[in-house]
Amino acid sequence: MADEQRRSSMAVVTREVNGPLTVEQIQLTAPGPGEVRVRIEAASLCHSDLSLSTGVMAQTRPAVLGHEAAGVIVELGPGVTDLAIGDPVLLLWNPPCRDCWFCDHGEAHLCEHAADRGQRPYAHDEAGTPIYPGLSTAAFAEQTVVAANACYRLPEDIPLAEAALLGCAVTTGVGAVRTTAGVAPGESVVVIGLGGVGLSAVQGARIAGASTIIGLDRVEEKLELAKRLGATAALPAGPEARKQIRDLTQGRGADHVFDCVGLAATIKDGWKMARRGGALTIVGIGGKTEVVDFTSLELFYFARRILPCVNGSLDARRDLPVYFDQVRSGELDLKSLVSREIDLSGVAEGFRDLAEGTVARVLVRPNS
Ligand SMILES: [Zn+2]
Ligand SMILES: [Zn+2]
Repeated sequence: MADEQRRSSMAVVTREVNGPLTVEQIQLTAPGPGEVRVRIEAASLCHSDLSLSTGVMAQTRPAVLGHEAAGVIVELGPGVTDLAIGDPVLLLWNPPCRDCWFCDHGEAHLCEHAADRGQRPYAHDEAGTPIYPGLSTAAFAEQTVVAANACYRLPEDIPLAEAALLGCAVTTGVGAVRTTAGVAPGESVVVIGLGGVGLSAVQGARIAGASTIIGLDRVEEKLELAKRLGATAALPAGPEARKQIRDLTQGRGADHVFDCVGLAATIKDGWKMARRGGALTIVGIGGKTEVVDFTSLELFYFARRILPCVNGSLDARRDLPVYFDQVRSGELDLKSLVSREIDLSGVAEGFRDLAEGTVARVLVRPNS
């Protein structure tokens, strides 16, 4: 088959903020030096994709979204020696360069070059218009071209459809508990928002040995799922929740609160649910118009720590082998996070369900 043909791919293209998501044939650029082409096996819908689609987060367009994905290497660009054709890989939307100040100082999740690949087109449409890769990965497509350092080679025994969730939701939720906040055995934990990230935080709290794990959400079915995954209590989000949390934490409030929504209102609620001296970890990505206010007196008096969390403070090389072991042992349940599977034509509807909060994760299978 000619190279041109091999590099053509169906993809979900966004051309304007809040505009339609159309499935189109695009032509991928040949992988450049240090790049690879990947056939996508599974990609799940993350809230950040929704935020990029609605303009809450900035995205140069036209673009292909999708950043929580796993696939197989099908072409190597010049100079790529640490990956081979046929390798199963997890895509990393926040790949560390291993060379900047942050990478050198143990903060790979804040790498200053992580977003570099997203600034350049990686494909063009039938009219020749350049297309940008959303979050440098562009996984809502049959194929993509990414930097080789955005590919983490997967062990053969981790199924690709489950591994995809490790691309964002699970590493963010579990990492928030384990790495960002460092929850200790016996501590009490509240998780606000039980989507893919929140349900992963619940699992992270169970694995960390938290004694009290309280999940909060507006949607009833997700409360049941949270209990199955390790929550000791699951409560409808609302004005009653704060009092119920106090009752479940000897009147003090929780040692740790994880806000997996990221709105001003949920951040302020979360702050009030934590005990004096407790910690509020902000996991959900809010928006430029979400303003949270604190009086300097309350900051002093309550002495709570506020811990903003980027991608669960993930260092793929350090943390992914631990998560693979937790998947193998069954401690980490990835399958239960998938509400349903769709093909590329279902992405727009999947976004609507995500916006309504009725699903944990919707998994796209572009090649099935
Ligand atoms: Zn770096
Ligand atoms: Zn994400």
